[in-house]
Amino acid sequence: MKQSLYGYTLEGLQQLVLELGYKKFNGEQILRWLYQSQVTNIDDMTNLSLPVREALKEKYEIFLPEIVKKQVSDDGTIKYLLKMKDGSLVETVLMRYVYGNAVCVSSQVGCNMGCSFCASGLLKKVRDLTPSEMVAEVMTVQHDLNKSNERVSHIVIMGIGEPFDNYDNVMQFIYCINEAKGLAIGARHISVSTCGLVPKIRQLANEKLQINLAISLHAPNNEIRNKIMKVNHAYDMDLLKEALVEYCQKTNRRLTFEYILLNGINDQSEHASQLAKWLEGTNSYVNLIPYNSVDESSYRRSEEKNINNFYNLLKKYKINVTIRREFGKDIEAACGQLRAKSEVRKHENNC
Ligand code: SAH
Repeated sequence: MKQSLYGYTLEGLQQLVLELGYKKFNGEQILRWLYQSQVTNIDDMTNLSLPVREALKEKYEIFLPEIVKKQVSDDGTIKYLLKMKDGSLVETVLMRYVYGNAVCVSSQVGCNMGCSFCASGLLKKVRDLTPSEMVAEVMTVQHDLNKSNERVSHIVIMGIGEPFDNYDNVMQFIYCINEAKGLAIGARHISVSTCGLVPKIRQLANEKLQINLAISLHAPNNEIRNKIMKVNHAYDMDLLKEALVEYCQKTNRRLTFEYILLNGINDQSEHASQLAKWLEGTNSYVNLIPYNSVDESSYRRSEEKNINNFYNLLKKYKINVTIRREFGKDIEAACGQLRAKSEVRKHENNC
């Protein structure tokens, strides 16, 4: 089976052409063709000599997934359901901000973290996505945006999957899209979100990368977090805090904490004060997320007055806090729902 040319860094492409018996500088040419000219055919790489192109074509291709479904929201959000070579379905979302176009990338097919409120975990992890598949998610959206002369400017690795459960592939993906002569997405425009795999947070602190780290916290204490996030049994909030304080000291970066407000579970006044206390010593801000209801779960979105109360209390405690803008309200919005529903449909059709 042919390998995809996506997902390599400049160094990786240089290595690849050297192994084929050609020149190192061909690597940079290929990088530019893939990400600046955005060709989808090796034959179109016209400044490569014919033998180089032929040698490339023998082993490689430029793989773009099939768009199985595309939903466009009134607010411009676009949700794609993509089919990889082995038939795996992956969700990718384009979100439009005033400052640019962000692509929300999935890092795995399914997820094993088992957070009780999340649709992604309804279907267990099937496999990790490769760097080339994650790049292909971005390039699929970029090709679509080319029609309106727009550019993907930001990447958030917050789609289906736990990026730190696929750490090496995710890092290679990041180094690839960050490549100055390639897509050139600045590290400060790249965010990765984790449910809190502590050893990988420590590992990230040692990468020389200025990316943004977001933590899905969703609870103000261990008792609540244990109930809603399985990962807390492995790495509780004390271990998490210790690693994050170190991360802030080492990197000088500001953390984002995501906190879904679940009606009656974690949205009371005492929870806001516990959260503020826990955040002491971190350089961070909190993004409050209105819950997207998932059919299969009994959780409900907090009432408006409780959301506002929680927000105001955090402000009073001098916490930097925002309420997340909602995207694509009119399309199947919660992460993982589109894929979960398609997989269920597929299953029903097979039975
Ligand atoms: N595994 C990673 C990234 C994927 S989830 C992580 O846990 O961070 C991306 C974000 O969406 C997480 O903060 C997750 O908790 C949140 N999320 C999951 N289901 C949601 C829902 N139904 N409504 C709102 N946010 C949800």
